[in-house]
Amino acid sequence: SEPVLTVRGLNVDYGTGADAVHALRDIDLTLHRGEVLGLAGESGSGKSTLAYAVTRLLPPPGVITGGEVHYHRRDGGALDLLALSAAGLRAFRWQELSIVFQGAMNSLNPVHTVHSQLTDVLRAHRPGMKRSERTARARELLALVGISADRLAAYPHQLSGGMRQRVMIAMALALEPEIVIMDEPTTALDVVMQRQILSQLVRLREELGFSVVFITHDISLLIEFSDRIAIMYGGRIVEEARADAIYRDPHHPYSDGLLHSFPALHGARRELTGIPGSPPHLSAMPAGCAFHPRCGKALDACAGHVPVLAAPDGDASRTVACWLHRPAPATAAPRP
Ligand code: ATP
Ligand code: SF4
Ligand code: MG
Repeated sequence: SEPVLTVRGLNVDYGTGADAVHALRDIDLTLHRGEVLGLAGESGSGKSTLAYAVTRLLPPPGVITGGEVHYHRRDGGALDLLALSAAGLRAFRWQELSIVFQGAMNSLNPVHTVHSQLTDVLRAHRPGMKRSERTARARELLALVGISADRLAAYPHQLSGGMRQRVMIAMALALEPEIVIMDEPTTALDVVMQRQILSQLVRLREELGFSVVFITHDISLLIEFSDRIAIMYGGRIVEEARADAIYRDPHHPYSDGLLHSFPALHGARRELTGIPGSPPHLSAMPAGCAFHPRCGKALDACAGHVPVLAAPDGDASRTVACWLHRPAPATAAPRP
């Protein structure tokens, strides 16, 4: 199917000069029209940084140091997101792409009702809409996310966390964007709610036809609900494949570790072994494959050579960045 968002060679640093740390390295990613793409990886792997960078919302000291991000319109035209003006970006966000941030349910305005927050979005972006039309649309949006219209008059504190999150989704859908990005918090306590949110989004996607990027550390959730999954480690994508392919046959040892860090929701019970050690700090990223200090399958080449993300031999349907899946370089003279 056709792409709706393409990211090529994206690099992001936090800080500049001698203080700069590399938060994203050489990110290549394609979101296809109508698909649910899951982005997984431990805390600090760069998931939120990627979401912020592609939507041009990266807060300082974050800087995009290279790469390209394009949005592809239905008419075949492409928009260079890294070159958009401030006005172009304002129109792009909400209309074409909306993003619901980690902890967004707490970012509803506490002194405004659900009705006024939903209609504000419409007032700002649909100047021709009448007041009565805005109210009708607000009801419709709440109904979409399974909230009854009598909650329009409610203030955020009168709603449960799950309901507030659904109000945020309703706001994100208000202008019928082509892409919805959801960045979910990574605490284990939130997984039940993440599951509800994700199943709701998948249902709405089928109804309305938008594409979804869902970000979580919980890969088992993504296996169940997404079409494809990209797995991040140390600021790089280390594997990308169809969800069922990742589940049945993870190629990257880190993907395999993640799959064994969460109980399976369905099917055969997995042995929970987790991943030894902890994720690297940006300021002390291991050379070569960043995962090598934690990898049970590391080869001699792994500590000195970065494996690039590429399709393994004879399988164009997935990509993996691991020396187990391509000829490893000789290690007679490893790079420092
Ligand atoms: P989580 O699952 O905890 O949300 P994440 O995968 O979203 O993690 P990011 O928030 O993108 O990870 O962070 C990636 C890396 O960038 C981390 O090492 C983090 O410490 C670093 N980082 C994030 N924001 C800043 C900042 N403002 N200044 C410096 N470093 C930052
Ligand atoms: Fe392990 Fe080497 Fe593959 Fe990295 S490249 S995941 S260290 S085998
Ligand atoms: Mg995050």
